[in-house]
Amino acid sequence: MNAADERQMLDAISRWLEREVRPQVRDLEREDIYPEAMVEQMKKLGLFGATIPQEYGGLGLPASTYAKIVTTISEVWMSLTGIFNSHLIMAAAVSRFGTEAQKRRFLPKFASGELRGGLALTEPDCGTDLQAIRTRAVRQGDAYVINGTKTWISNGIHGGCVALLVKTNPNIEPRHKGMSMFIAEKRDGFKVSRQLHKLGYKGIDSAELVFEDYRVPADCLIGGEEGRGFHHAVGGLELGRINVAARGVGVANAALKDAVAYSQVRKTFGKPICEHQAIQLKLGEMATRCEAARLLLENAARAYDSGERCDMEAGMAKYFASEAALENSTEALRIHGGYGYSTEFNVERYYRDAPLMCIGEGTNEMQRIIIARQLIERNRV
Ligand SMILES: Cc1cc2nc3c(=O)[nH]c(=O)nc-3n(C[C@H](O)[C@H](O)[C@H](O)COP(=O)(O)OP(=O)(O)OC[C@H]3O[C@@H](n4cnc5c(N)ncnc54)[C@H](O)[C@@H]3O)c2cc1C
Repeated sequence: MNAADERQMLDAISRWLEREVRPQVRDLEREDIYPEAMVEQMKKLGLFGATIPQEYGGLGLPASTYAKIVTTISEVWMSLTGIFNSHLIMAAAVSRFGTEAQKRRFLPKFASGELRGGLALTEPDCGTDLQAIRTRAVRQGDAYVINGTKTWISNGIHGGCVALLVKTNPNIEPRHKGMSMFIAEKRDGFKVSRQLHKLGYKGIDSAELVFEDYRVPADCLIGGEEGRGFHHAVGGLELGRINVAARGVGVANAALKDAVAYSQVRKTFGKPICEHQAIQLKLGEMATRCEAARLLLENAARAYDSGERCDMEAGMAKYFASEAALENSTEALRIHGGYGYSTEFNVERYYRDAPLMCIGEGTNEMQRIIIARQLIERNRV
């Protein structure tokens, strides 16, 4: 995609955001309503196929363009990006590791948004330590029978399928060799047991899923080979972290923009608060964080697109941008004074949305450990 095409696409998305999304965010968010109409509009914009290869019906966008789209949307309503982010990570598992038959069967439906879903990795007992999962798949003839529980699954209610991480051999060492991933479509045995309620990240559904003697055809095992599931799950994390970094940049930017605007109209002691040095110090730090987070994001996306190993770069971008969103939303709230605490302004939403990005796609504690490990591996003495 050349720069002019990229600009055209970002402009189209910005027009859609201003016309259809911004006027409705506060109402939908307050009531935690799933944005059905916006999902239909996102289908038309091609967002459900953004990173799916063109030969399977997607737009085939590079991560660098995709990251700009995610940032642009997150500046208006971060939740919307969750509806297609984990869906695209599920699609990436199929396009990177699936058989040709799986690609032809699933990717066109994913790209159009006809079949939407997400990633089902986390369980009630484990998130960070994924190799400790207990959901079990047992082969029976030409199918697998799955039992277990997944939690916090984005798009678990409104989606029609998930990329489901299971144990096919719970006794093998190392543990990851006993893990496999399936494309699991909803049918008997696949139950949404409850919707989870959250501090922020409203509108998008987060669910607990229970699998009870759920039968999935053996040809839905991604790649057709058992024992590769952990590799498939980890393989999607780099793009996942670039996604989260892009969301962080969006929320950090939104907080900065609102603070810059508000500080020029709110007056204390006879002058706009932006003329007080204490506020200027905050604005200066916030703007620097936005710029640094954006550059780290661009660097990670460029490395991803060029096929380089980029776990350190994606980890740095994810870590820094999500902390930038958290810090900027806190500072924007302070700059708004009492109004920052009011639901009539958007800053309280940024403040509730930002912490999620420090947790999802590997917590920020883990990101720093990953960065340090890579640092040592790349600089052996
Ligand atoms: C809104 C929302 C949406 C989500 N969507 C999805 C989804 O779509 N699919 C999905 O599979 N999951 C999803 N998750 C789950 C998310 O990925 C996990 O919450 C996350 O991976 C952390 O796992 P945990 O909650 O089990 O925390 P734990 O793993 O129990 O960690 C608890 C704390 O211990 C720290 N910790 C753990 N191990 C170490 C270590 N070795 N060294 C240092 N510190 C450590 C962690 O950083 C954290 O601070 C979602 C979560 C939320 C809140």
